[in-house]
This record gives sequence, structure tokens and C-alpha cells, in this order.
Amino acid sequence: MELADKDSKNNILFWAKRLYQRGMSPSVSGNISVKHKDGILISASGTCMNDMDENDVVFIDYDGNLKEGNKKPSSEKIMHSEIYTRRDDINAIIHCHCPLITAFAVAGLPIKKPILPDFALYWDEIPLIPYYCPSSADLAVAVGECFEKNNVALLKNHGVVLGDTSLQNAFYKLDLLRAYVEIYFGAEVLGGAMAIPKKGVSEIKKLYRK
Ligand SMILES: [Zn+2]
Repeated sequence: MELADKDSKNNILFWAKRLYQRGMSPSVSGNISVKHKDGILISASGTCMNDMDENDVVFIDYDGNLKEGNKKPSSEKIMHSEIYTRRDDINAIIHCHCPLITAFAVAGLPIKKPILPDFALYWDEIPLIPYYCPSSADLAVAVGECFEKNNVALLKNHGVVLGDTSLQNAFYKLDLLRAYVEIYFGAEVLGGAMAIPKKGVSEIKKLYRK
């Protein structure tokens, strides 16, 4: 019996394609996963998010061992596993090198100015993790620790990782963040990105809690 069903694999392929087509995961960068049964379904190493097929989604256990599939799992598999083992409420993770978002990570800046109501609704700050070698255990642990209190992190000189209850929700949040950064840069060119007043931010958060 197959460990991974077709629908779960297709769900990954669907959102991976959208990620690429939104310009959020260039070339063969990025990786995407979901919790599945007693393990993780994850994209294979070195795959383009746009061109993946079922064979590019593999099933691994929480130690990163391949349980089903013919390809090598993403080299960031331990980072995904670190997040899932620390957070029961996170079921899906997207890691990508979205150029617009990564610009903040390259500039060494966390994203924190509440310039839009929908940003203020979800986040006070997108924290920035120091640079660690991609795919390293050090990076995985640093991301895992950050996810004790956050659902998203910027990886210095690297990219962004975001977790949520489903891949759809993770994609929407990441897309929101991409839009935020695009607006931020545009506003800076036009004279300066201005924050919503403090009172406005607390109003938004109150509204969300209802
Ligand atoms: Zn990466």
C-alpha cells in the first residue's frame, strides 16, 4: 500500500506551481511540505516548483529518512522536521527565496513597519535569523527555535520560511508578505512608507479577535 495518496501529492504540486508563477520561488530554489500520516511529504531536492510532478514529492519520517519515493528529499528536510516537531498546529511549510521578501533578509532587516492593515492583523514583526549555511543543522535548529513563537522567519542572505495550518493558508500569507514588500518599496520610492498609527494597529487586532 502506498504511504502517500495522490490527492496530497497533487495539493503540493498545485501550490508549488502557484508559488513559482507568482515569481516567489525562482529557478530550482525553495521547498514545500505537509505533515502526512506519521511523516512528512516534501518536494525533492533540486526541483523547480513549476515543473514538479508526482515523482518529485517524496515521503520521509521525522528524522529525514526516505520512506517512499525515488528521489532525494529536499536538503532542507531537517528544517521542516524541526518546525513540525515543535508545533502541533503547523501542518504545512513553504520555504522560498522570493526576491522581494529576500531583499529584506539581504539588507539584514526584519519586516516590522505596520504599513497595511492586513500585515498588522497577522504580525508585529517578521523576525530575522542570522546567516547559517543552507541545509545545515544549525539553520534547522535556529528556525525551529524561532518558530516556538513565530509562524514565519526571514533567513539572512537566504530567504523566508512560513508555516500554517494548510498549504493554502501558508501560500496566502506568503503572498500577502510579498505584496507588503512590493508596496513598501514603491512607497519608499515615492517619499517614504508610512506606518498606520498605533491606535489603528490595536483597532485592527481587536477586530481580528472578535
Ligand atoms: Zn533556501
